[in-house]
Amino acid sequence: MALENDSELKELVRKAALLNAVQHSGKAQAGPIVGKMLGEKPELRTKAKELTALINAVLVEINSLSVEERRRIVEEKWPEMLRKERVEEERRLPPLPNASKYAQIVTRFSPNPDCVLHLGSARAIILSHEYARIYRGKFILRFEDTDPKVKRPSLVFYDKIRQDLGWLGCKVDEEYIQSDRLPIYYEYAERLLREGNAYVCTCIPDEFRNMTLQQKRCPCRNLPPKEQLERWERMLDGSYAEGRAVVRVKTDLNHPNPAVRDWPALRIIDPVRYPHPRVGSRFRVWPLYNMAAGLDDHLLGITHIIRGKEHLTNGVRQEFMYKHLGWEYPEAIHYGRLKITGAFLSKSKIIQCVNDGTCSGFDDPRLATFAALRRRGITPEAVKKLIVDVGPKTADVTLSWENLYAYNRKLLDAQTDRFFFVPDPLALVVDGVPRVFQVRLALHPEQPERGYREYVVKPEGGEKAVALKIARKDADSADVGVMVRLMGLFNVKTRRRTEDGLQASFDSEAYQDARDAKARLIQWVLPDESVPCRVVMPDASVNVGIAESACKRLKPDDVVQFERFGFVRIDVAAPGLTAYYAHK
Ligand SMILES: [Zn+2]
Repeated sequence: MALENDSELKELVRKAALLNAVQHSGKAQAGPIVGKMLGEKPELRTKAKELTALINAVLVEINSLSVEERRRIVEEKWPEMLRKERVEEERRLPPLPNASKYAQIVTRFSPNPDCVLHLGSARAIILSHEYARIYRGKFILRFEDTDPKVKRPSLVFYDKIRQDLGWLGCKVDEEYIQSDRLPIYYEYAERLLREGNAYVCTCIPDEFRNMTLQQKRCPCRNLPPKEQLERWERMLDGSYAEGRAVVRVKTDLNHPNPAVRDWPALRIIDPVRYPHPRVGSRFRVWPLYNMAAGLDDHLLGITHIIRGKEHLTNGVRQEFMYKHLGWEYPEAIHYGRLKITGAFLSKSKIIQCVNDGTCSGFDDPRLATFAALRRRGITPEAVKKLIVDVGPKTADVTLSWENLYAYNRKLLDAQTDRFFFVPDPLALVVDGVPRVFQVRLALHPEQPERGYREYVVKPEGGEKAVALKIARKDADSADVGVMVRLMGLFNVKTRRRTEDGLQASFDSEAYQDARDAKARLIQWVLPDESVPCRVVMPDASVNVGIAESACKRLKPDDVVQFERFGFVRIDVAAPGLTAYYAHK
């Protein structure tokens, strides 16, 4: 029976293809499916060609479906496969503490919109989102924008942060903006003051600090609630100028960590000098971090706070407020610092670089912002996998860019087409080419179904010469008399390096000859079949060269591999190509 009439086999292929597509949230690839079929049905080995044709036909059908359609079919027909996939995912992260205590797990990511997001935030975002997803819970985005003076938010960043989360695939279930919530913070400030658990301190900060270091109470602490509320009114109505009064939450003056003793909860910021970008000059009293974040974590029903261990003291501070209010503190998981060597992970440096024009923008390739990673073709899946594999452990972790590249390379390798790019091109003239070569170069060495690039290499004149372009680096390192293989074409022996190029003679056709001679393989481009191409490197330098003409069909956002050069993302497609370099 011809394989294409074997409906049972066809169904098996369909299943494998759908699962492959769903599990990799992309298009199904032929390679793994051929392997799977041959593994399950060894008798098909003699019919590999027919099998590949059948698989390719099924793939055309499956890959034309939308992601949702594919998922729906798998859920309907093979729900057990998805369950298995889920269990595997859940195993990747350690379980959350006391998860069963809560009807629904709620996590949050709470950035200050004073910069775009960068790799330094990846751990907080991805762990919080992944846990919410694994437990079918809720992931909250909370903008912490209550400092219009020092960590001043800026309107552009609210949207940029939303875009960054969207790119990372972290779907937000609810969003809150703290500058909308000032009346709520005021209400709790009043309650704390009324109940004697907070006080308005008008001491000079240095004097207050000295008293706390000596574990002494300041004169404001014991004033009765009535007077505290009067002082509070004076904070609100402008009787106190900026810096003249703060609300402090009572803690333990004997606490071993002086930073915990009676921490400041709300302060005055001159609304005329420092208007807030969203709410203008409407408010003059602003909550500090521990007040706003501490209240919101409870009020928004956060069950698990996943944050860096630099927040440990904040947790201790906030627990005093929780006790005053009769609340139970959420579960808190503190992970260690994640350092990426060579990455620019400081907000102030990023902002400075963009503002002074050193960087071309927030997506400048030198930055470790998500915008820059996106522009370079680093996939959000790679960032996610890296972070999930590191997990929430408390030990500090130092990674290198190469760690991230390794994840990305693994993802891109199967999905990207190959092309030739010749940086800094020089002429290579080969004479003695015996015939016309019709070259077929696979777009992917392991996936013939992706298709080919085709070129005609035709010798001209009495010398039977062919003129090509190769990289200056390759020309410079070609020793005279040594064999070099032009990838996918033929082998040549270099004769002479001239000022403007390299002269060589045709040697042989077979790839095996090149292997035997341990010849170097180099990429090449026909001058008449080329397109100008610039590649912006991670250090913002530019490699100028030419790419083969098949690249003319590439579109912005396509990610491809320039052979022997690296993975790049197409940024501009016309008239010439501009690409951003991802990595080798
Ligand atoms: Zn005081």
